Amino acid sequence: MILLTIASLMITELLYEGGELAAVAAMHGQGIHFYPHQFAAWTVGTGLLSAGIGADALMLISRVGYWTHVTTVLAFGNFLPYGKHFHIITGLPTVFFQRLPPVGQLSKLDIENSEKFGTAKLTDLSWKEMLDTYSCTECGRCQTHCPTYVTGKPLSHRS
Ligand code: SF4
Repeated sequence: MILLTIASLMITELLYEGGELAAVAAMHGQGIHFYPHQFAAWTVGTGLLSAGIGADALMLISRVGYWTHVTTVLAFGNFLPYGKHFHIITGLPTVFFQRLPPVGQLSKLDIENSEKFGTAKLTDLSWKEMLDTYSCTECGRCQTHCPTYVTGKPLSHRS
């Protein structure tokens, strides 16, 4: 679904920009001026123009592409918190608030005064640990290189 959404965003963007370039060119009875930074839109626009579509229909294609694109972006934005792509939003604050001590330095356990050790429930996580959780892209590298997991025992911190 995510890949289809991203493909839809790309296609509707190209229809919007390419359609508009082609519509303006058709109104003025000329070809589309080529700008290197609009290579993909120029290609789509040239294709639409050479198909013999009228200026009004080209503008309609552009407008439909624009509103479909905007609607998809807004819908995708609302879906983000429910999937692993939420890291698009949480990634930056996660890096900003990262731990600054040396990598691998462990915090000391206060065994004598602590009543809880480790994490048993979600509410045991700190706000930063929650943020880190939402920033996970589920690539699996941490599990692949986890010393407990590579022993072959049924130990998985991802599941
Ligand atoms: S390494 Fe582990 S925690 Fe980090 S993004 Fe990949 S799966 Fe998530």
